[in-house]
Amino acid sequence: MDPMTLHTPEAVCVTGEDHDCGATSDELHAEAELTRWIAEHCPQTGHDFYHRTTLCAESSAWQ
Ligand SMILES: [Zn+2]
Repeated sequence: MDPMTLHTPEAVCVTGEDHDCGATSDELHAEAELTRWIAEHCPQTGHDFYHRTTLCAESSAWQ
């Protein structure tokens, strides 16, 4: 397995007055894809608050 595939950056749109928009990018394989998703979502909706997560296998018990 390519260790790069263990990184699954994901973004969630948390823009909203009463509740978060909740749109998610789903799991991506590169920060660049995540940035592109935001670049598409933002002008369509005017949303500009995102929570980014980068899940990494490093934190789990792979050893
Ligand atoms: Zn949104």
